[in-house]
Amino acid sequence: MNQAPRVTVWNEFRHEKTDDSVREVYPDGIHEAIAAPLRERGFQVRTATLDDPAHGLSSDVLDNTDVLIWWGHVAHDEVTDDTVRAVVNRVWSGMGLIVLHSAHFSKVFKSLMGTSCDLKWREAGERERIWTVDPGHPIAAGVGECIVLDHEEMYGEHFDIPAPDELVFVSWFQGGEVFRSGCAYHRGRGKVFYFRPGHETHPTYRHKDVQRVIENAVLWAGQAAGAVPTYGNHQPEEPLTR
Ligand code: ZN
Repeated sequence: MNQAPRVTVWNEFRHEKTDDSVREVYPDGIHEAIAAPLRERGFQVRTATLDDPAHGLSSDVLDNTDVLIWWGHVAHDEVTDDTVRAVVNRVWSGMGLIVLHSAHFSKVFKSLMGTSCDLKWREAGERERIWTVDPGHPIAAGVGECIVLDHEEMYGEHFDIPAPDELVFVSWFQGGEVFRSGCAYHRGRGKVFYFRPGHETHPTYRHKDVQRVIENAVLWAGQAAGAVPTYGNHQPEEPLTR
């Protein structure tokens, strides 16, 4: 893709309306905190939220989205199955998807993974060290060997996902758990990246390295896909003679 990928940041946008401690951290919503640094870097970014008509993800919006970023937590079940189907089909067709933090339990991620996507968790505001385990991966570009977040929610293994096609980051937590926190997948012509940090009461999306990882993931997931495959009965390309 010669042009920068067009990005849509989707946020459930519920905590910020009901919880003062979240609004203090993200007064304009988590989606704006994710969108702002991408806009500063020159990306064309729109935002969409659960309570928008069609969850803000009309066919027109999806037609003009190269990479969709997804944050959700308490209202996964309110996302309509039609929207989930539309997003999954777009990924298979080549749209990139970046799944953040508690969106491990989103319908779109679970549909694409085919597993429970369950994990251990603890809200203690403890230290997280996100180690780069694939330093040659484009999503790790420009990021230090280890990103330290002083206060985050813990997610621990076992994380019930299919083995990632590429594992880019592994997290360690102060309480002793570890977690596969940067997982890259190919699904059809599309690419999916799960990135763990981003609990709503911590300013994680203002951390420069976290922003850099998301930007890198947008570039990786937004790369142009190859030819559209044809499926089904197929005539021989060459004569079937002996
Ligand atoms: Zn959380």
